[in-house]
Amino acid sequence: MPIKLPSFRPRRDAYPPDLWTKCPSCGEMLFNKQLDKATRVCPSCGHHFRLSAQARLDLLLDHGSFEELDAGLQSVDPLGFVDQKPYPDRVIAAQTATGLRDAAVRGIGAIDGHPVSVCVMDFGFMGGSMGAVVGEKVTRAAEDALARRIPLLIVSASGGARMQEGTLALMQLAKTVGALERLRMAGVPYVSLLSDPTTGGVFASYAVLGDVNLAEPNALIGFAGARVAAGTIGAELPPGFQRAEFLFDHGFVDRVVHRSELRAELALLLRYLQPRALATEAASSSLGLSSFRPLGILSSLADRVLAPAEEPAPAPVPSPSAPSAASSNAEAPRG
Ligand SMILES: [Zn+2]
Repeated sequence: MPIKLPSFRPRRDAYPPDLWTKCPSCGEMLFNKQLDKATRVCPSCGHHFRLSAQARLDLLLDHGSFEELDAGLQSVDPLGFVDQKPYPDRVIAAQTATGLRDAAVRGIGAIDGHPVSVCVMDFGFMGGSMGAVVGEKVTRAAEDALARRIPLLIVSASGGARMQEGTLALMQLAKTVGALERLRMAGVPYVSLLSDPTTGGVFASYAVLGDVNLAEPNALIGFAGARVAAGTIGAELPPGFQRAEFLFDHGFVDRVVHRSELRAELALLLRYLQPRALATEAASSSLGLSSFRPLGILSSLADRVLAPAEEPAPAPVPSPSAPSAASSNAEAPRG
């Protein structure tokens, strides 16, 4: 009698490794599907896990309202940077892992019916590091907010500037801040949400410049790491240093908001923070307030250096409201 072999399918490899997540705060084993349903907040201790850009957009924006812009922007490798592996290989690996082209997603959406220009960062993409693409997306989000006169919302989640892009990454600090300053001058509100973690060059530029700065509970927020900070000042750091609640206690953050209340909080803020009407802006510029020109200081410096040059050389950045020489413009009141 022939031996009857049982027919069987090859057993799946026990459990997929991404089925459970251990809460780093209370140690509870959490079923991933349930964790996702709870917007990745631990149901037993309230620990806020990091959110992907897509999950963040789904959480905050009205269903179906998001229209992505500049989706095709992608990093190049101008420095030919190689550490343990070439920079382009790192980018491709991150793209494969996350399905994103870079560490930020931007577009136009609505929160409770209020239109908003939004840019959301994803820590899963190379630690949410800010290279030329992230900086450009933040800047364009601000410019879009200005052009459409709708509030700007930026959700930060970043370890800082992307070292593989060197100076080009550092340049994004100045670029984004310049765009935000134009927004401020025009009276268009900007709400910044700091999620875990918001550090380095992102903290040092656009993340903390909001008209309102919100933070998620226990988010790590700061410039340098705690060890570096302790070493620099040669002192022991207080408990809770660089956490959202600590920054709130010291006036650096306006509100610490539980994730389940974020959408309602933002809707309320957007109801209060209406962009200033254009007529008011025209009135203020007729009072002699010059518009912001990030190149003003540089051009005035250039004027001083090149002072004995040809006399009729026109000012590099003529200001419509102040027809005097560019060198005096730099000292003009900035509102
Ligand atoms: Zn927990």
